[in-house]
Amino acid sequence: LEAVEGKNGEDKVSDAKAEINEMQKGKAIWKKRYFWCRQSNGVWEYGAIQSTSGEESFVSLSNGNVVKASTSELLPANPEILDGVNDIIQLSYLNEPSVLHNLKYRYARDMIYSKAGPVLIAVNPYKDVQIYGKDFVTRYREKATDSPHVFAIADTAYNAMMNGGVNQSIVISGESGAGKTETAKFTMQYLTALGGGNGGIESKILETHCILEAFGNAKTSRNNNSSRYGKLTEIHFTESGKISGANIKTFLLEKSRVVELAAGERSYHIFYQLCAGAPPALRERLNLKMANEYNYLIRSDTLVINGVDDAQKFLKLVEALDIVQICKEQQEQAFAMLAAVLWLGDISFQLIDDEHHVEAIADEALTSAARLMGCAAHDLMQALSTHRIRAAKDNIAKKSTLQQAIDTRDALAKFIYASLFDWLVEQINKSLEVGKRCVGRSISILDMYGFESFKKNNFEQFCINYANERLQQHFNRHLFKLEQQEYELDGIDWTKVDFEDNQECLDLFEKKPLGILSLLDEESNFPNATDFTLANKLKQHLHSNSYFKGDRGRAFGVRHFAGEVLYDTNGFLEKNRDPLNLGLVQLLSSCSGQLPQSFAKKMLDKSLKPGVLLDAPKQSVGTKFKCQLFELMHQLEKTTPHFIRCIKPNSKQVPGMYEEDLVLQQLRYCGVLEVVRISKSGYPTRMTHQDFAERFGFLLLETNASHNPLSISVSLLNQFNVLPEMYQVGYTKLFLRTGQIGALEDRRKQVL
Ligand code: ADP
Ligand code: MG
Repeated sequence: LEAVEGKNGEDKVSDAKAEINEMQKGKAIWKKRYFWCRQSNGVWEYGAIQSTSGEESFVSLSNGNVVKASTSELLPANPEILDGVNDIIQLSYLNEPSVLHNLKYRYARDMIYSKAGPVLIAVNPYKDVQIYGKDFVTRYREKATDSPHVFAIADTAYNAMMNGGVNQSIVISGESGAGKTETAKFTMQYLTALGGGNGGIESKILETHCILEAFGNAKTSRNNNSSRYGKLTEIHFTESGKISGANIKTFLLEKSRVVELAAGERSYHIFYQLCAGAPPALRERLNLKMANEYNYLIRSDTLVINGVDDAQKFLKLVEALDIVQICKEQQEQAFAMLAAVLWLGDISFQLIDDEHHVEAIADEALTSAARLMGCAAHDLMQALSTHRIRAAKDNIAKKSTLQQAIDTRDALAKFIYASLFDWLVEQINKSLEVGKRCVGRSISILDMYGFESFKKNNFEQFCINYANERLQQHFNRHLFKLEQQEYELDGIDWTKVDFEDNQECLDLFEKKPLGILSLLDEESNFPNATDFTLANKLKQHLHSNSYFKGDRGRAFGVRHFAGEVLYDTNGFLEKNRDPLNLGLVQLLSSCSGQLPQSFAKKMLDKSLKPGVLLDAPKQSVGTKFKCQLFELMHQLEKTTPHFIRCIKPNSKQVPGMYEEDLVLQQLRYCGVLEVVRISKSGYPTRMTHQDFAERFGFLLLETNASHNPLSISVSLLNQFNVLPEMYQVGYTKLFLRTGQIGALEDRRKQVL
């Protein structure tokens, strides 16, 4: 039987029916064939046909039931011998239930990794599967196993870098909670094991996880340890393949979390760790209370995470800070900033006149925050109780209303926290500093926050999902567009495979002047704009865009590659403007502490004309993020990418539970099934005739009179009996099917 393939895994060949007709004609073997039969609840059941009229069949299911089904809706199942194959490519039938079954089969046996052609699929086990020990590192380093694994991907990247002198990247994607961050850590574990032995830099790299997770991760409803920032870690190697240093770039930390929390979620781990784990002397110096006594932390009902000991984590954090050589004095300053943020949240206000103006109350919260920041309580009070407005050329201080005062206070808390995070990353980078950089000797690991779709989606989700569209395009480009372009350019025989291009959705975000980001910036510049005027503006200009959906009131929808998301414009303008008033910057620069001063200086440096600082920083948050993403893509484009797709098997964060619909949705959205089809019919390995002849030429038994690389390459393929369907000879390159190069390399090694 021919392999049946089709779009989105749904088989085109009206498959089962045609097949059964065939079978009825000749050999009546259909009784021995198995099919997938979709149940009314959407679940695919495995079964065999008992009898058939052609149009309709009675199927006896593996659960004992016999059901009537339309024959054309049955999808062929793979023979049992293919159960749990390493690479989905090996399946004869690539329909959705077959792929789902394969992943499920493996998952049930703790084989959480599978290949989908060139892409590694990782299904989150939510338990310790014991496959990351030193023995496994050795096994993959010695290539003693071909079982798919994140170590194998890291190994491939490392070897490609060493052999080809080209920078590599490992791009990890997946929904929130799918396992990206853990996967990134395992990648680095493997790379540091391979490239270690260069003065402890590798242990420093590994310790950064603990630090950045404390400050940049939080419990959300999807993931108890959700990264609230994106991260690109670039590891540099020496000529001989030892790690020489690393550099971490972070993207858009979700700072609103410091002052507002959704039910069931927490603020950043570090706050709870500090409150639970600070030793008595430090507590006293910071005038620290317990987490449940701070306003900012009790904005949600959740203070602890099951199975997590925050006090213990604090000890670990301090150890990690020591290893990364952030000195005790700096640590203390950082903790003081955290305590200051917590105390800021406790500052309250009282009415001072009949015009609803307020003033901060001079209580313990105010004095503690001021002392920790290193300023006079009076100055802090002043800064929180007034706001600056622009009048003609001057900035005038005006008294604030309660809401204005609260906003100012929260803005200060968010600014201090985000600045502290940036400062920390800077310190870490200093400590990991790369000495001499070697060309083509780096591996970048990207752990970007995954696609998010909640009941209520804010500006943060808007940015996160926009980033995911960009990443999806990078994925598409490399696995579909460039791949097929290359085949065509090199003149090889090729039937085009369709894929879901998301360029139009990106245009919806990025087009000038009529894209969401531009319209948002424009509206952000109108002093009188509101969430409603923004929503209306978007609807007015974008209603005809098929990726945009206007909605009632303040909401609008975007049709993302991973599903439609409804955004609430509430807070969009404010978060996009991200204003910090001049009073606060002045306050910080007058503080005696080094950190607040440096935070203020950074802010002032960023503003174009320091003398006439306006209320809002020049570049909006959305536009800045867009530029960062462009830079990221530019950097990634200069590398050879390796892709890992993390899959969340259930939304309960528990082991052993495989929700088929949830998995299927993720497989569909990320285009994995198309990648498999392309790889199955494609030629993932390609080498110029020149490179191929140089690498394998010495193995040639008969001397080839011509020095033409193409002719040498073809002779080599003949000599090794590579079957004609396993390769194609292009104008400039040789294209090989999966697995072929491995066999050739083995032969080469035997001789060397
Ligand atoms: P993401 O970064 O995609 O949001 P995480 O990497 O934080 O997701 O993973 C969420 C949780 O899932 C982790 O805290 C861990 O408990 C579990 N997990 C993920 N990958 C693995 C793995 N390979 N082995 C064991 N547990 C894992
Ligand atoms: Mg993460």
